[in-house]
Formats: sequence, C-alpha cells, structure tokens
Amino acid sequence: MSDGALRNAADHIRDARTTFAFTGAGISVESGIPPFRGPGGVWSKHDPALFEMGYFRRNPEASWKLIRELFYERFNTVKPNKAHTALAELEAAGLLTTVVTQNIDGLHQKAGNTHVLEYHGSTSRVQCMSCRRKYPTESVSLDTLPPKCPDCGGVLKPDIVFFSEGIPDDVHREATQLARSADVLIVVGTTGEVQPAGRIPWVAHHNGATIIEINPNESAYTYKATDIYLEGKAGRMLPELLEAVLTPR
Ligand code: NAD
Repeated sequence: MSDGALRNAADHIRDARTTFAFTGAGISVESGIPPFRGPGGVWSKHDPALFEMGYFRRNPEASWKLIRELFYERFNTVKPNKAHTALAELEAAGLLTTVVTQNIDGLHQKAGNTHVLEYHGSTSRVQCMSCRRKYPTESVSLDTLPPKCPDCGGVLKPDIVFFSEGIPDDVHREATQLARSADVLIVVGTTGEVQPAGRIPWVAHHNGATIIEINPNESAYTYKATDIYLEGKAGRMLPELLEAVLTPR
C-alpha cells in the first residue's frame, strides 16, 4: 500500500459532506473474536446450519449452547481495538456520521461511536419468540438453556439475525438511504458475501460514492466497487488513515 493511496483516501474524507463506515467481522479480529469465514473462522469448526432459524426453532437448546460459547462467554471480556477507536475518533472529529455494522459484538458503541446501525442485531439483547418482548441480555440467566421469557414463559432468542430471517426494516431503510446519499464509504473487514448487507457498498458505489476499503485480503468489492484499496489489518490501517485525515495538507 502506497502513501499516495492513504493521502488520497484522507483527502476524500476531508472533502466529503457525508462519510460513513461499513464494517464486518474483520474489524473485531484484533479484539480476539474470530470471523466466520477463512482459516480459524467459525465455519471451519461448526456447521452454519446451527444458525438457521428453522434449526433454532426445533433445537433451541443445542443452538443456544454454541451461541453462548461463541459469543456470550467471550463478549463480556473483549475490548474495542485500535480500529474501533479510530472510527470513534473520526466521528468525534465530525468526519464520520454513522457506522453500519454486520457485527453483533457492540464494540463500536463501546469505543464511543454514537450512531451505529446494527444490520444483524446484537448480543446485548434477547427477544421472546412468543410475545416478542426484548430484554437486555444481562437481565436473564443463561445457566439453563434455552432461557425463558420472564413475562410469558416463551423461548428467548438472541436478538441477532439468523439465516433466513429478515433484516430489521428501520435499519435496512436508513442504511440504504445513507448509501444513496453519502460521498465516501469506508468498508472495513468484510468479505461482502453476506446478503443483503453486502449490497450496501454496491448501492453507495452506484450512487457515485468513493469507496475506501481496508482488508488484508481481497473481497467481493476489491478492484470492482472499491476505488482506494488500503491493503492491511484494520488495527494498523484505520489509525494511519485517521492520522492522515487529521494532519493538515
Ligand atoms: P467474514 O467472516 O465473512 O469475513 C471476515 C473478513 O475480515 C475477511 O474479508 C477477512 O479478510 C477480513 N479480516 C480478517 N482479519 C482482518 C483484520 N485484522 N483487519 C481487517 N480485516 C480483516 O465476515 P463478514 O463478511 O463480516 O460476514 C460474516 C457475518 O458474521 C457477519 O454478518 C457478521 O455479523 C457475523 N460475525 C460477527 C462477528 C462479530 O460480531 N465480531 C464475528 C463473526 C461473524
């Protein structure tokens, strides 16, 4: 990656009216959370079928056991890394309006971003499959699985989007609107293979936004939708990009 690419990306962010970020599992890898795809990814050890809504309905206990192990036991202790912090600092500097994230770990909010659209929900909440009430996860015990609704006794499900479930309408609408109107989009740590979330950068691209991408590996966007590819890990590239943006020309 050349210094020129970094400076070019920084210039676009400084000159933009609206910049937003679109993040995937890669941004949390340096916090110790494995991605789903690729070596060491969750799918190399577990069957994605466990995240099917139909499977959860039939086997809530088995599905919950894996979800508890993968997400809940770890998510209480993980911390935002330098990449999350750089995005929070970009927002604090008035240079980033929103983070649209596919992640369910809540690390953008922990880092300090105030406007985060959670495309696939969050492990911070659970929802009753019967009465649809939502509760903060820390208010229910996960010792006996599946946890039950304190109100109606129905099965509680993590408030994350399972395969074959729809995206929350309000989140999808706002993210799409943003993609149509923004000048710059920073795409970080995503393969772009999960749909419909993966379409957001394409909508931005087709509406004329400059796409800056940070990823150590090529994705579905690289050399196609991406205008400026900053090849490398998010924990290094985002702080470098932040510094370039904040350093006067
Ligand atoms: P993915 O697992 O498909 O791909 C991960 C991407 O991150 C790859 O492109 C990889 O090259 C890149 N990457 C790896 N290390 C990186 C680093 N240090 N810096 C920057 N990029 C790095 O992830 P996805 O495309 O986001 O899709 C998987 C789905 O799984 C998403 O919907 C997401 O919600 C979910 N998921 C979330 C978490 C989480 O909340 N932390 C973890 C795993 C999966």
